[in-house]
Amino acid sequence: MDIAGKVVAITGASSGIGEASARWLAREGAHVVVGARRTDRLEALVQQIREAGGEASARRLDVTSRDDVRAFVELAVERYGRLDVLVNNAGLMPLSPMERLLVDEWERMIDVNLKGVLYGIAAALPVFRAQGGGQIVNVSSIADRRIVPTAAVYSGTKYAVRAISEGLRQEIGGAIRVTLVSPGATESELASTISDPELKRRVVDEYRSDLLPAEAIARAIGFAIGQPRDVDVNEIVVRPTAQA
Ligand code: NDP
Repeated sequence: MDIAGKVVAITGASSGIGEASARWLAREGAHVVVGARRTDRLEALVQQIREAGGEASARRLDVTSRDDVRAFVELAVERYGRLDVLVNNAGLMPLSPMERLLVDEWERMIDVNLKGVLYGIAAALPVFRAQGGGQIVNVSSIADRRIVPTAAVYSGTKYAVRAISEGLRQEIGGAIRVTLVSPGATESELASTISDPELKRRVVDEYRSDLLPAEAIARAIGFAIGQPRDVDVNEIVVRPTAQA
């Protein structure tokens, strides 16, 4: 696996899949740059990675701000001289029936799950072009191909991420790789973004016994990153074996 020494920036690395990916990739020798809004979590993560002999840096990041995302990518380049991989992972999932008209939550999902990914692509592509290569990894969801009640808008953002990933791959080609990783139910704090307590309880109860550890998704991301430069893993879907 060709991971050691790669510079990998991960959005939404203060918990769940992003945090597990930072730990896993750092253990494999990557230099990880982690971003999110909860800087206390990021600082603790960086300290633990360094204590374990790895290399990590952190920056406060709100992916709804283009300037923030640009500065996040710039930190990687300033600190390590290049950016090999951007993992667009930050996301939220405030599920609700559409007829409740929680328009603010719809907008929030579009801003974070969709526009945040676009800002990441916009920040990374010029760097990749200048250095002659790079990789975008977009963390989507099985909701990018399967719609269930209460997840219409969440799915809408993830369908869009899948479409954008494939479109980008077709257009960009050459030395820039594009990978879509679509997890099924995974241990994380994602359900905490559901504002309806009854729905939150139902979602947590439904998946309680059948969650993937976040490290399973970290390994999938690592598999795509670790391939030789002429091998572009385009899509990975990972579900708990018991999930329908
Ligand atoms: P978590 O809630 O544990 O992690 C979400 C991360 O996103 C946190 O680090 C959070 O950090 C960050 N985040 C949220 N809003 C912003 C923002 N505006 N700017 C920067 N960072 C932000 O959930 P997961 O680990 O599960 O989620 C990671 C990705 O995986 C998401 O895209 C999600 O849709 C996807 N996914 C998860 C599945 C699951 O079952 N867990 C299944 C399918 C897909 P902070 O709050 O500190 O900013």
